[in-house]
Amino acid sequence: MKKQEDRKPHRLVLVLFPLQGHTTPMLQLGYALHSKGFAITIAHTRVNSPNPSNHPHFDFLPLSDDTHYSDKSGTPNIYDIESINLNCKAPLQEFLELQKTSHSQVDGIIHDSLMYFAATVANHVQIPNLVLRTSTAAFLQAYLALPRLFAEGYIPFQDSMLHELVPRLNPLRFKDLPVSRENMEDTMKFIEIARNFKSSSAMIMNTMDCLEQLPLFQLQQHFQVPLFGIGPLSKVASASSTSFLEEESSCIAWLNNQTAKSVLYVSKGSLAMSDEKEFTETAWGLANSEQPFLWVVRPGSVSGSDWTELLPRGFLEHVGERGLILKWAPQKEVLAHSAVGGFWTHCGWNSTMESLSEGVPMISSPQFFDQKVIARYITHVWKVGFELDGVLERGDVDKSIRRLMTGREGDEMRQRAIELKHMINVSILEGGSSYNSLNDLTEFLLTNKI
Ligand code: UDP
Repeated sequence: MKKQEDRKPHRLVLVLFPLQGHTTPMLQLGYALHSKGFAITIAHTRVNSPNPSNHPHFDFLPLSDDTHYSDKSGTPNIYDIESINLNCKAPLQEFLELQKTSHSQVDGIIHDSLMYFAATVANHVQIPNLVLRTSTAAFLQAYLALPRLFAEGYIPFQDSMLHELVPRLNPLRFKDLPVSRENMEDTMKFIEIARNFKSSSAMIMNTMDCLEQLPLFQLQQHFQVPLFGIGPLSKVASASSTSFLEEESSCIAWLNNQTAKSVLYVSKGSLAMSDEKEFTETAWGLANSEQPFLWVVRPGSVSGSDWTELLPRGFLEHVGERGLILKWAPQKEVLAHSAVGGFWTHCGWNSTMESLSEGVPMISSPQFFDQKVIARYITHVWKVGFELDGVLERGDVDKSIRRLMTGREGDEMRQRAIELKHMINVSILEGGSSYNSLNDLTEFLLTNKI
């Protein structure tokens, strides 16, 4: 019999979806599983591919797809999902079949939930496939509730219902639902993708009991496959930089010169856009608040400009040394810095968890996808922030910043955020829910003929 130590490490192929908010948690999962002894191959598209030299422990498999992305900038968006899935299938299948014949068997696939082609390929070559969900359990639950809401006649809904609570989906309002009113077809497509998780070998979710115990439990009941809540992956795994853009680490020196909890960090993530009016109102709101701020303006994120050309005249003089504008921040480090006291966010799930993990309260300005569900949880479940919604106006921006950074309410939210940070820390330590789930996942991977 072959001795245990002679056996090659179990190899997993991790299939990335080429957006920042999807790639980061999958790479972090790769680090977590590598630390458990697995060999990791990262399968990726040409666009937004990770830099192999940042991750020397991984092997890389480019799935040279021929997708012509619908956005002129070449950034994938939801309209490209089908085409990416079609184009990546053959290269992954060829790779796995070749591995099989050369006796360097791949033992399982973990794929991003939007890379569903990988499940078909895994079935074809008869290896287990696990799906990674990079968003909240509550968001998936909201999706799964949509067919019931259609059947009960609640959808499509009138504008007059936007602020009403959705039956049996507390605390979500109709306006928080992930329904594209313009294009029901897209909504149906996503529901179909979610339904298919039932036939995966298991589900991995970048969330945890202390934030989403009930939604996680209900999803487990619904899907009836093993479900592992192992988040926050940003804390569970110590990964090298996963950013597509270069992180401007010089901002840490600037933060070092600010007083504790005084700085507002402002970032809308990797996809959200602003128009000139929003950009101007944001700028004057920040200027008038008299609060120090670190503002990420992603190149190309303000329509009609490359970067900050549309800043209003007089803004930089007004702000002086009190504010710093960056193209891309080392966000995890920024949120962990003692000078940062608040985060004005678009409520992407990675950003939200990174903020919660560091005890930073939030002003939430959600735009699309899962962000409205997450914003509602920030304000009404975890109570660590409030919403700044609708058409941005400098007076409201200024008021919101003061409310979070200098008001008693902001202090109370900060206190609750710090309590959550402690709970999150406990969940990743020995005996905590995420710690145990990661061990259970490892066991599952090893015992399912992997
Ligand atoms: N991020 C960063 N620097 C920035 C802005 C964002 O490193 O200046 C990272 C952030 O830490 C997070 C990711 O980009 O991990 C954004 O993912 P999220 O799910 O929050 O939002 P998305 O970009 O998908 O809308």
